[in-house]
Amino acid sequence: MLKQSRVTILGSTGSIGLNTIDVVQRHPERFTVYALSAHSRMKQLADQALMTGAKVVVVPDTQARDTFKSHWISHAPAPEIRVGAQALSDTAADPETDVVMAAIVGAAGLPSALAAAQAGKRVLLANKEALVAAGSLFMAAIRQSGAELLPIDSEHNAIFQCLPHDGRASAPTGPTAGVRRLILTASGGPFRTKRWDELHQVTPEQACAHPNWSMGRKISVDSATMLNKGLEVIEAHWLFAMPPERINVVIHPQSVVHSMVEYEDGSVLAQLGQPDMRTPIAYGLGFPDRIASGVGMLDLALAGRLDFEEPDLKQFPCLKLSFDALRSGQGACIALNAANEIAVAGFLSGALAYTEIALVIDAALDWQAGVPESALNSLDDVMALDALTRQHTKPFLRA
Ligand code: NAD
Ligand code: MG
Repeated sequence: MLKQSRVTILGSTGSIGLNTIDVVQRHPERFTVYALSAHSRMKQLADQALMTGAKVVVVPDTQARDTFKSHWISHAPAPEIRVGAQALSDTAADPETDVVMAAIVGAAGLPSALAAAQAGKRVLLANKEALVAAGSLFMAAIRQSGAELLPIDSEHNAIFQCLPHDGRASAPTGPTAGVRRLILTASGGPFRTKRWDELHQVTPEQACAHPNWSMGRKISVDSATMLNKGLEVIEAHWLFAMPPERINVVIHPQSVVHSMVEYEDGSVLAQLGQPDMRTPIAYGLGFPDRIASGVGMLDLALAGRLDFEEPDLKQFPCLKLSFDALRSGQGACIALNAANEIAVAGFLSGALAYTEIALVIDAALDWQAGVPESALNSLDDVMALDALTRQHTKPFLRA
């Protein structure tokens, strides 16, 4: 008889959260839902809590708590409602949970993801911003606590699948022996075939219309600018202990090959599949077993062809800025991520033009380079530089 894993889904109302609930509910013999969290959409959270039988929900403030209560119409007992950011971290570390899906968007998801790592959980990491801002702290926490770390980002999940392992998902201390380089694939997003000077007027709807993946709005804009791929290069650096010069990016518009590992003997291993996040989520949940995800078969004959091309760094300046930040150090990575979060929120609300996103990040990196270097050894240090960057970046937005 299988021991049931108790799963917590942080960011359950988002795109990754919904897909996680979908996979979990296919395997009632393996998983129960312990806790769910959301920042908004309390009705959806209440519906999810009822459907999954979650014992705990975490909401941002007392107003959200009241809204959640008003939507609880069932005669079944309501879940325990925990309030605030500290409650997110406490729930991630709760002894009642075994598996934590970290699917909050942005650096806001860092403290709770780190808490899960420190508490020795199986951490399913979708929140790439946590590794960008605090990769060294996060990986050290995984090692020290003996936590398991399963990358959920499709590229990193693909790479993980193409690397050898012994059935445990521990954090490596150096590049895997025999590996020459990691090759991340990128779809190129909705503006792949456009020139940079054609993009000044693009709208949030155009930027969020990803050709292959359905995702939250922030990551959709990041995919359009390819800053997402930049964050993923930094993520790969930490997850697989790989130096930046051994991480390459190739554009692959069909999103069928999710990434590759090249070995010293010239072999290249790839993971392929439909562009559906339930595959990496099921892999992380079931590891080392393979479990059903609801994703259908890959019809290669229907796909017809698989194309690959070199990314043009002039057309995708955010990709270049990300490599610059990774080479320059952790402070630059924190600034890159925080400035991007402000810029993307500004673009989505009409306070910034699409092409200004790269300019704002560039300016933030210049500014950060002039900030006296300080130790970034704790979560507080990281969050302080994150907050300072946001403060510095906000004046770029139009009122
Ligand atoms: P989303 O916007 O659809 O959902 C985000 C979730 O986080 C929601 O539940 C929301 O309520 C919650 N949230 C937002 N702000 C919060 C805050 N300040 N505090 C607490 N909770 C907050 O995002 P998504 O597309 O599901 O992406 C989630 C994470 O997974 C991101 O880091 C993204 O980069 C990563 N990711 C997503 C995909 C994808 O296919 N969607 C793929 C790879 C990686
Ligand atoms: Mg990805």
